[in-house]
Amino acid sequence: MKIICIGRNYVNHAKELNNPVPEIPVWFMKPQTSLLTKNKDFFHPEFSQEIHFETELVYRINKVGKYIEKKFAHTYYDAIGIGFDFTARDLQSEFKAKGLPWEPAKSFDGSAPISEFIPIAEFENTKEIKFSMKKNGELTQQGISSDMLFPIDKIIEYVSQFITLKIGDLIYTGTPAGVGPIEVGDTLEAFIGDKLMLTTKIK
Ligand code: ZN
Repeated sequence: MKIICIGRNYVNHAKELNNPVPEIPVWFMKPQTSLLTKNKDFFHPEFSQEIHFETELVYRINKVGKYIEKKFAHTYYDAIGIGFDFTARDLQSEFKAKGLPWEPAKSFDGSAPISEFIPIAEFENTKEIKFSMKKNGELTQQGISSDMLFPIDKIIEYVSQFITLKIGDLIYTGTPAGVGPIEVGDTLEAFIGDKLMLTTKIK
């Protein structure tokens, strides 16, 4: 399986990092070894002094597809969860300045904590999914899926031109504003609606 991540998908986040608002989806990938399941702890690596949290809705692909049209895209995912896209912001800034790829800043082990998934059928309204994150008990990030620049169906259409989507692939759909650094001792909690979905302790 593979993990596809969308960058700069919320205007307020693109602006907080002084990035231009993209005209086409910005995407990158993380390897399977980046996943952190079952609320496992995240061990802060030594290669970065500035790892940021990004809280994102994650869609699970349930059908193989290539060149998927937007109008059919909703038939290619069956569940939604929430995850963190941990980012070594210091490395990323350095690579961006040099015009180099971001992988080392994004794809390291444990950089993708992920919750359990809620079946699509259990959502009253998949167009307006509210989500949030508390850091050490304090509300730190809040988003709603309708604020995405590129909604999930558009992302699927766009990305599936390049790569075949397969069963079990995950799509991280980008973070709203409010990103910031994690420190050893922090506890992050991610919610879909009012439901606590994911807890990650930083060790
Ligand atoms: Zn992200």
